This record gives sequence, C-alpha cells and structure tokens, in this order.
Amino acid sequence: MKQLGRALAIQLHSGPRRVQLSIHQRLLETPLDQLLTDARTVRDRQFGSRVTYSPKVFIPLTMLCRDKCGYCTFAQPPARLENPYLSADQVLAIAKQGAKSGCHEALFTLGERPELRYDVAAEWLKANGFDSTVHYLHDMAALVLKETGLLPHANAGALYKDELAMLRSVSPSQGMMIESLRDDLDCHRGAPDKVPQRRLDTLEWAGELKIPFTTGILVGIGETREDRINALEAIATSHARHGHVQEVIVQNFLPKPRTGMQHEAPCPQDEYLWSIAAARIILPPSIHLQAPPNLSDDFGILLDAGIDDWGGVSPITADHVNPERPWPALDKLRVVTEARGKALAPRLTIYPEFAINPTVWVDEALHFPIQDRSDAEGLGRDDPGQVWPEKVTAADVVLDGAEVVLIGHRSTQWYSGANNPPPSLIGSQHDGTPFDEVDVDTLRGPIAEILHGVRLGQRINEAEIVTLFSARGKEVRAIARVADDLRKQVVGDAITWVHNRNINYTNVCTFKCKFCGFSKGPLSLNLRGTPYLLTLDDIANRAREAWDLGATEVTLQGGIHPDFDGDYYIDVTRAVKNAVPEMHVHGFTALEVTEGAKRLGEPLYNYIMRLKEAGLASLPGTAAEILDDDIRAILCPDKINTEEWLECHQVAHEAGLRSNITIMFGSVEHPNSWAKHIVRTRALQAQTGGFTEFVGLPFVHMASPIYLQHKSRRGPTFRETLLMHAIARIAYMGLIDNIQVSWTKIGPIGAAQLLQAGCNDMGGTLMNENISRAAGASHGQGMTEDAFRAITEPIGRSLLQRDTTYGRPDREPAILSS
Ligand code: SF4
Repeated sequence: MKQLGRALAIQLHSGPRRVQLSIHQRLLETPLDQLLTDARTVRDRQFGSRVTYSPKVFIPLTMLCRDKCGYCTFAQPPARLENPYLSADQVLAIAKQGAKSGCHEALFTLGERPELRYDVAAEWLKANGFDSTVHYLHDMAALVLKETGLLPHANAGALYKDELAMLRSVSPSQGMMIESLRDDLDCHRGAPDKVPQRRLDTLEWAGELKIPFTTGILVGIGETREDRINALEAIATSHARHGHVQEVIVQNFLPKPRTGMQHEAPCPQDEYLWSIAAARIILPPSIHLQAPPNLSDDFGILLDAGIDDWGGVSPITADHVNPERPWPALDKLRVVTEARGKALAPRLTIYPEFAINPTVWVDEALHFPIQDRSDAEGLGRDDPGQVWPEKVTAADVVLDGAEVVLIGHRSTQWYSGANNPPPSLIGSQHDGTPFDEVDVDTLRGPIAEILHGVRLGQRINEAEIVTLFSARGKEVRAIARVADDLRKQVVGDAITWVHNRNINYTNVCTFKCKFCGFSKGPLSLNLRGTPYLLTLDDIANRAREAWDLGATEVTLQGGIHPDFDGDYYIDVTRAVKNAVPEMHVHGFTALEVTEGAKRLGEPLYNYIMRLKEAGLASLPGTAAEILDDDIRAILCPDKINTEEWLECHQVAHEAGLRSNITIMFGSVEHPNSWAKHIVRTRALQAQTGGFTEFVGLPFVHMASPIYLQHKSRRGPTFRETLLMHAIARIAYMGLIDNIQVSWTKIGPIGAAQLLQAGCNDMGGTLMNENISRAAGASHGQGMTEDAFRAITEPIGRSLLQRDTTYGRPDREPAILSS
C-alpha cells in the first residue's frame, strides 16, 4: 500500500521535478481509502482534535457582476434588483443583526467590478461619491467594524495591489477563490476576471502585502485531477514565498436552475473527497483546509477526507452564493463534529496563527478589534451572547469603584466581574440543567491521552498543560470530571471558606501596572477616585470590627506609597496584632515585601523574620500576575520579575510563613504563559511545600487602564476560567490540595460550576473588597456564610469554615446574616 504522508507532502514542495511527478502519479494511483487515511493523519498531526468554524453574517454588497460564470446564481442583472448596491443603512442593519446573534465575522461578498459592465452601477457609485465598488466596500467594512465590532472579511474577487492594500486597513483577512488554472473552461468563457493569471496575481500581491488570505478550488466544473493538483501546487508555491495563505477551500460544483451549467452532473462524491484529501497532502500542513458543510448532504464525511474547518456558518443570513442550500444549525454541526471524535471551536475571520502575530499580518488599526474578540489562543471568544465595542464615559462618582461607566450597546457575553451569566459548560444542578458526565474513555485525541495519563497518576508537563488549555466541548467536561475526581480523592466534598476582612490601607502607588484600576497617583483628584491612606488607628479599628464580626484573618495589601519604608509594614502588622492578638495577619505581596526590604537596605530573610516577629503569619500570592517575564514586561514592567516573586516566597517559606499562588489571567498572554506559571510555581512547591492553595484571578477588563487603552483582551472566557481551575487541580496533583474560586470575579453561578470542576474553596468573606471593584467588577464587596451556602447547597456539598492555613478556626463562629 502506498502511503502519502507528511514527508511526501514536504518533498512535493521542495523536491526536483522527477520527484514531483512521481508524487503526482501516486496521488493519482493511490486508492481513495488510503488517500483519505493519509490526509486525516496529516490533519490530526497538525490540528489535533480541533475543527473550527466562523460565526458570520453574510453581506451581499452588490449582486451585480461583470463576469458571467456558468455555475453562478449569485450574480443578477440590474432588472432583477431594486438597487445596484446595498445602502449603508441596509449594510448596517444586517451587521447589527449578526452582532445580536453572536457573530464575529461580517463576510462581504460581491460581484466583480460591476461598474465596468452596468451603467446603473457606475452611476450609483458616482452619485454616492465612490469611484469604484472596491472603494464602497472599503467604507462599508469600516462602518461595520466601527459600529458593530464585527470583523470584515472582504471577498471581492481578483483585485489590483492598491485595492488589496486599501482593504487591508479595514479587513483583517481577504479572500478570492483560484477556482481553476485552466483557461479553456466553458463556464468561464464570459468571465474576464477568471483568467488564471489575474487570480494568481491577486494571490501573489496579497502575499507581498502580508494579507492573511483565503483561497480555494472549485471541483467538478470541467477540470481534471491533474488540473486540481496544478492549482493546489500554485497556491502552495505562493504560500512558500509569503506564508500568507491561511486556508484553502475545496468546494464542490452543484448544478443550479437558470444557470449555464444547470444540466451538468454534480461533482461526484468520490471525486470531491479525493480532491479534499489531495489538497491536504499537497498543501503545507499549517494551511487550514475547509469544505462548506451546506453543500453536502452527509457533511460529516468531509471530516474523513482531512478538513479542519467548516468555514463561515451564519445563524441568520442565507448563503447568498448557494441560496438553495441553507447552513446546518450549529447544534447539528457540533453533533456531527463530535461524532467523529473532534471538538468544534468558533474562530475569527483571521486564523489564530496570524491573529497572535498582528505586527506582521494586520494593519495597526485592526489590532485591537481583533484582540477584543479573541480568546487566549487567538480564536473567537466562545461564550454565547453579543460582543459590542465598549464605549465608556467618566463616572460621576468614583469613591472606591470604577472610574468609568459603560454607555451604548451592552455586550451580553460572560465577562470576569460582570453580571452576565456564564454558559453551563459542565452541566450543573445549580442552574437546573442535568449534570452531564462525560466518559473520558470515549474521547479521542491528544487531550484524551493526557487525561488517561493523569488517571494513571502521571504528572503533566508544560506542553501537556498548554494542550489541555485548548479543550472544547466534551473535552472541557472531561477535564472538569477528572479534576473533580481528584478533588474528591484529596479533600473530599466539603467546600471551605475563611472569615476574613480585606484592608487595603492605601490606593496611592508609585508603580504603574497597566492592568491596575485601583492605584491612584498621589495628586489624583476626584476624576480618578480619591487617593487615601488609612492611619494605623484606622487599620486597628477595622481589625477590631472584623474580629467582632467573627473574622479570623485580615488580609492586608495596598499600593506602594512613596512615603513608605519597610518599617511601615511592620508597624501595620503590629497595629493589627496589638488590637486583636488572635487575628491571623495574612499580608503583603511579594512586591511589598521585596520593596520594603529594598527601601531599608535589609536582606530579605532578615526583613521577613522581622515581619514574622511582628505577627505576620502568611503572605498572599498576589503581584504574581503572570510569572513569565515577557508578559510582565507588558503588564507591569517596573514591578518585581518572576525570579524575585519566586525568591520572596521561597524565603518566606524558609522563614516558616505560608503563602499562596495566584495567577491573573486573560489580558494579553497566551496559554503557554499560563503553563510556565504553573510549572515554575509547582517546582517551588515541590522544594518548600509552603503554598497552601492556588487562586485563579481572571482579569477584570472594564475599567482597567490597559483595556481602556485598547491593548488587552476582555479577560478570559468562561471556558478558559473553568479550565484554569480544573487544570490547576490536575497539574498541582500531589503538591497543592486546595484550589480556590475568586467569587468577586467569577460570581456565584460561575463559582458553582468551578466547584464541580476541581475547586474546593470559596476564599474569604472579604467584607471590603476594593481592588476588583476598581477594575469594574460588580459581584459585591463581601460575602457571608449564608451567601456561601446558597452556592454550595444546590450542588449537594457541605460548607466548612476554615482558618487561613486550612485548619479549623479555634473560635466560636459568629452568627451572621446575609
Ligand atoms: S497592582 Fe499594586 S503595585 Fe501595581 S499599580 Fe496597582 S497597587 Fe500599584
């Protein structure tokens, strides 16, 4: 049996002509079943279990076209159209409908240069101030982007280089089907834009301009297998020069009434499958391969031929190119995809490989619009609901809350800190949906393999952690299931909480962390919230109040005030201990401790010992943000680096203090940084055993400076949030027993799901939570035992009060009401 794997595909691009001919021969001679197997192998090796689609709205800007193709029902004569072009209002109305339905893409499809054939088109453009269809397309794409945030994909046919360049400023990706390189096809006889060299020139110019580009072939319009191989090779050759082809569409011909080819036979299925498989083998593996699901009755079979993308699927508009073939419902697409052992993920019009490298591939004006809809992998945010561009105005009253308020269209997706409900990812008794258990043994692919290893007790490495973060659909539920099983084995069913009070003694800070909405410069006026500094008496009084209300811990952290030296933290600790000797003082981030020692010129160990003698009992893990210095250089360039954070906690552990690990995730980083963070902290825990828990802190974007400057994402998606906690449970297996939910950021409904995905702790009552509120979070400033119970009872779990280090508090619980 001749096998055409990846190695042969590579030779095809680089080998001498003799080798190419022999591979052509093999492609033509290999039995179809074997070819399909080889194509799947190439696909699976490159993309694992992932299959993507783009939730889009279809905007047929003009159905006039100067070309006459024998298979086309899209192009219409002027007499059949009310107007030659959609008006700006019509364009916007369609786009808004798309945005309301949760789409990410506005696909502009149009005929080619109708103004050269129809006076009515030329006159309309002139009357409306445009000198070409492409100019009008540019302005409509800009309008849709500005008003709805949908990312345009311009599908304007064969263009000249200046036209491609103009559209690059408003359209993150562009597309044009090569169709075929045969210049003698009957169907293209009346189509000047289908001259092969016109198409190849467009493809080449797009590469020179660094435009992420979509192209493809049409199968069954009179061409042969050799012709298809030639077309695919031409695409691969252009890609080899520029690296710009993001996807190739292999589309089957279907005859349509009232077209020149209406009496021709449709593309035979075997011929279509052969073409898809040949494309997968000929093209570099990194190019995504797409086949439209609405043009095949049994579309699951397309996956068997090696595709990894379904293309644009619209929940609201018809496929205007194939109006008789509606798109399958998303649920059906998911069922068919999962039945083949794959996981479905929504993407943007620009693929992740290009989206995460925007300086090369995207006009600067589009960097933020892309980031604003991206998840951490550069795919489309996958929480259900609407995503509108956020508009803000200065808040009238700031106090300890956010400095800005949202105006205009409200997004309805879940965001960290916002009140929008999260999707039910694992099924939950809490929100009334059945608890959906996934049998891990039925999963296939890399994630399934990792989970099998985990169940055998194997520790996951950095690369495996990154792979787990790519989970979708059933894979997410499987990870949650494995994490929940581990939680049960390690700590049982009780959900713990600590009765504590946050005391943020000052919001004045000399540091300039780009994510921080809490800190104020010393000269801030009311526009940025009032700068404050609590006195030692204030702090002591708050500690006393907290004790009277039943607290066992105060958590002390704040800005780095320019007047502080290291003795301030020692004085604060003493003030609390003098007021309430029994109180556990959990205080001071690694930044505060490191800065305190530095300002005194004292060795870190000595300084920490003096803090301990004053009464400090443990350190919070905040200021870790992401322990990856490349990301810290963006988020907090003047703060301690990764080594310094780790060193501070190591020294604290050596001094006999406990601490915890936090991670602030979902702003600018990608999953590889999350994995580094987990692996580095895990190594320290293996050495010292001093960390009590892991706390995931999803980035709250609404009033964060870095988001307001349009330089970050909108925090993690709920899937990413759930995975962060579940994967932490798995990754720290045997080293850290407690995984905490941050209710201030995740909210009660989300918290209930996380508690069924590996978490066992709700954190503290806090009483005065200021830091998340300053970033725009709206889940309240404090919790009570009753409020915790309202989350844990519906999921059938008991609630247990703990002290800071997970012992039982040695004081009578206070009676508190919500
Ligand atoms: S995160 Fe902390 S150190 Fe950074 S600016 Fe805010 S208060 Fe200051």
